[in-house]
Amino acid sequence: MHYCHICETNQSEGMFIYYLYVCDQCQTKMIATDPEDPSYRFFINKLRRMREQPLKS
Ligand SMILES: [Zn+2]
Repeated sequence: MHYCHICETNQSEGMFIYYLYVCDQCQTKMIATDPEDPSYRFFINKLRRMREQPLKS
C-alpha cells in the first residue's frame, strides 16, 4: 500500500511519477482529463510542486 497524493488515500495499485505516488484510478483520471479542465491543472500543480521540492531540506 502506498499513499496516493492525488486522492489522498492509501492504494495498492499505482506507480511513482517523479516523487509522487499516483494510484491507477488517478492515473486514469489524469489521462482522461481535458487540459482545459480545472482538475487537470490541479493534477499538474501537484506534480510540479513535488518536483520543485529539494531532495534535502
Ligand atoms: Zn489516487
